[in-house]
Amino acid sequence: MATTSHLINGRNVFPSGVRTTEVENPANGEVVAEIPLASPAEVDQAVAAAKDAFQSWRSTSLSRRVQILFRYRELLNARKDELAAIISREHGKVHSDALGEVTRGLEVVEFACGIPHLLKGSFTQNASTSVDVHSARHPLGPVAVITPFNFPAMVPMWFTPIAVATGNTVVIKPSEKDPSAVNWQVELWKEAGLPDGVVNVLHGDKVAVDGLLNHPDIQSVSFVGSTPVAKYVYETGTAAGKRVQALGGAKNHMVVLPDANLDRAADSAVSAGYGSAGERCMAISVTVAVGDIADELVEKIAERTRGLSLKGEDPDMGPLISKAHRDKVRGYVDGAEAEGASLVVDGRTWEESDQPGAAFLGPTLLDNVTPEMKAYQEEIFGPVLCVVRVETYQEALELINANPYGNGTAIFTRDGAAARRFEMDVQVGMIGVNVPIPVPMAYYSFGGWKNSLFGDSHAHGTEGVHFFTRGKAVTTRWGDPAEGGLELGFPQND
Ligand code: NAD
Repeated sequence: MATTSHLINGRNVFPSGVRTTEVENPANGEVVAEIPLASPAEVDQAVAAAKDAFQSWRSTSLSRRVQILFRYRELLNARKDELAAIISREHGKVHSDALGEVTRGLEVVEFACGIPHLLKGSFTQNASTSVDVHSARHPLGPVAVITPFNFPAMVPMWFTPIAVATGNTVVIKPSEKDPSAVNWQVELWKEAGLPDGVVNVLHGDKVAVDGLLNHPDIQSVSFVGSTPVAKYVYETGTAAGKRVQALGGAKNHMVVLPDANLDRAADSAVSAGYGSAGERCMAISVTVAVGDIADELVEKIAERTRGLSLKGEDPDMGPLISKAHRDKVRGYVDGAEAEGASLVVDGRTWEESDQPGAAFLGPTLLDNVTPEMKAYQEEIFGPVLCVVRVETYQEALELINANPYGNGTAIFTRDGAAARRFEMDVQVGMIGVNVPIPVPMAYYSFGGWKNSLFGDSHAHGTEGVHFFTRGKAVTTRWGDPAEGGLELGFPQND
């Protein structure tokens, strides 16, 4: 079994006698790695490394930083298959999906390569007589990035390239369920020429997170995970005086209007509902069928769902992250059936004997789900698609706006005016029109509303650059040497 250590100041650190945990491959139950769980002493060590590296890194010129970013981009692009293999081994997602995750992360690196342009301040000449004013953005210092299991490479890349490009130093605390992808990425940063200590990896659980949230030298916290933990991280981090962006869970609805192309809508519902076994914060978990198309739409979705494969050379989806999570997801299906939902496709028929030790659940389609059911109210985070039937567009809109989450949503229609109205009225951060998973490009910002985001800043894009920097405005007077004299009055602009 391999060990995955903390990576502090460019060195692997695995202290003896500490708490550890094992990482399992959920596709076969095999233990593939062991990691240390940081104690407060290792938190201090990682933060100290980031603090030590900060003064020198913030003074490194933008051209040098950009050369490293370009090299990192080239290396990652050339070796992305290696990273995808690590993701598949620890997370379980299929190779094509893992590769897709890396590619979306690469987009953030490419965005960060343009940092000199993004950091340009403004300048006003002769704002007052012989007085010029300019603005500049400065790095924060050592920052913390805490990430979830479902995108072990991409989510760390939402933050790290921008934090580094803007001159900060970083401590990343990856999910303890699939931690090795971050080590691989940080080794690659080193190969690209990033000095030791600029990005450090700290493995652990709540002890590590609490240590970072309360550490006086950590200036900001970027968190992605479930809503209860996101709320806790936001409240604890801001109480300790830090800047915090905490992205939480989701319950994404896809509205299908009666005029939509039902084949395209069914393709999208299935791809977005079951891709990555539904373990995506932008997965579609509720399809809202409007009007009299419901029977036909459900039939089309069912047909496609039944055709998905979990086996063979090129499966459509992999297992869930663990058997415990698989059982929790299965519990939602049991509950919905007991509460009166119609079970159209039952993924529980997947037998463990097909793949001993695996955490699989087949794709499951539930129809006639109502907002009172637990399967509707809670984030399932598994391959379970619920269909809610409503009569009108207005009912669909009210359903979404009454939901406590507001991460992503989509509308399928041929009616531009209806789509535009939806865009204006829906209380959700990321909206797709005939696009089921509207994850914005890296130069836009990613984030939801309501219980899907705590804090003011979304991830990456210009909001990411602002999050990792603080503004200064500088007023300068270089008077004519011929002028002079005392003036004790309050400075006036003239
Ligand atoms: P999680 O909340 O269990 O864990 C996230 C991180 O928090 C991990 O690093 C974990 O070690 C740490 N953590 C867990 N419990 C903690 C506690 N009590 N105190 C302090 N730290 C704690 O989330 P997960 O199960 O790893 O990830 C899935 C969740 O993440 C889903 O809810 C999903 O919707 C959400 N997610 C959201 C987005 C988004 O952009 N909004 C993106 C990806 C995932």
